Amino acid sequence: MAIDTDLEQQILATIDKWVDQELKPIAREFDQADQYPDELVEQMKELGLFGATIDEEYGGLGLSASTYAKIVSRICEVWMAPSGIFNSHLIMASCVQRAGTEAQKAHFLPKFASGELRGGIGLTEPDAGSDLQSIRTVARREGDSYVINGTKTWISNGINGNCLAVLTKTDPLAEPRHKGMSLFLCEKGEGFSVGKKLKKLGYRAIDSAELIFQDFSVSADNLIGGEEGKGFQQVAGGLELGRINIAARGAGMAKGATDMALAYAMERKTFGKAIAEHQAIQLKLAEMSTRAAAAALLVQEAAVKYDQAERCDLEAGQAKFFASESAVQNSLDAMRIFGGYSYSPEYEIERFYRDAPLLCIGEGTNEIQRMIIAKQMVARAG
Ligand SMILES: Cc1cc2nc3c(=O)[nH]c(=O)nc-3n(C[C@H](O)[C@H](O)[C@H](O)COP(=O)(O)OP(=O)(O)OC[C@H]3O[C@@H](n4cnc5c(N)ncnc54)[C@H](O)[C@@H]3O)c2cc1C
Repeated sequence: MAIDTDLEQQILATIDKWVDQELKPIAREFDQADQYPDELVEQMKELGLFGATIDEEYGGLGLSASTYAKIVSRICEVWMAPSGIFNSHLIMASCVQRAGTEAQKAHFLPKFASGELRGGIGLTEPDAGSDLQSIRTVARREGDSYVINGTKTWISNGINGNCLAVLTKTDPLAEPRHKGMSLFLCEKGEGFSVGKKLKKLGYRAIDSAELIFQDFSVSADNLIGGEEGKGFQQVAGGLELGRINIAARGAGMAKGATDMALAYAMERKTFGKAIAEHQAIQLKLAEMSTRAAAAALLVQEAAVKYDQAERCDLEAGQAKFFASESAVQNSLDAMRIFGGYSYSPEYEIERFYRDAPLLCIGEGTNEIQRMIIAKQMVARAG
């Protein structure tokens, strides 16, 4: 997909303005109160963020992954959590766009793009995260419907969203296990309830929830792709975009932490000069800015490959791994540069320090990421 650079610049300028005027002023308060930013969500609808990567023919903006990744990074330079409101939503949309039937695309994608239906992906369960093929949520066929029973946990947008792509077992005894897995679009209704809102170290203000399915009936028309046994591959495909967006979050956070540390280091004086003039601080700043720049380049490399419809699990994995670890390291280094004030909620850096570790866990932990990278290295060399 070719990138229209003028259009991209216009979009990024709009995002920068929005981040500056709307996001930045409320970040600290909403994070500390763990309060859902309803107004931001309405603004996101107007900005078209819920349809950012959805094709224009379905009412989306049809942006390339490359432009989308830049948007995500710009937001996360300031506050990571709000990006989660549309990021996992767009993974759900991507599953429909790539694997859905024509009827599913026509019905769901315009509603996803407008934000009328919004949500995310329900994969993880209390006893299954990395090993997704061991999930226990079951969907049993009954006439023209499926009846779903099971529990999902840690689901982003689980409370404020109204539609989720839910991974189930339609054949719990299938071997290999992934052949018995199917993905359903589930709109909230009787039998689909929120168990509890989960408390978190960081990534606050957006909801993470346990979800309970108890004899929840969903039409067979909502089985993505219309065929059982494809759910695991559909999710794996969606996670490529998911990894690029986690990587973009990491690159943004790594840069945001660096910018904050630099500004503070130029202002704070010890022993008669700004701490930015002490070599020990300069070494940290140099390492931080290099990590942030390298992370951004890896994200773009993966996104461009994705846009060219090339296989990019190695590149997306490398970007996700490096950018998320960079976000963690830069947040920690920034904490050191801020000294005692890093521990104060009066400054933003403590939020970065709490938010960044999530990026090493979501969309496949960094241990799993390294396994994916190595597997691809071997496959490509063979
Ligand atoms: C804030 C937040 C939001 C989330 N949002 C969502 C969401 O929207 N939807 C969703 O479905 N899930 C979501 N998750 C869940 C997340 O995707 C899982 O936590 C993640 O996949 C890891 O699974 P787990 O927690 O069960 O860890 P486990 O799979 O139990 O892993 C525990 C540890 O063992 C390591 N490990 C596991 N297997 C191997 C192996 N084969 N080799 C080496 N090391 C291994 C892992 O890397 C990790 O270090 C969210 C989690 C959080 C914290």
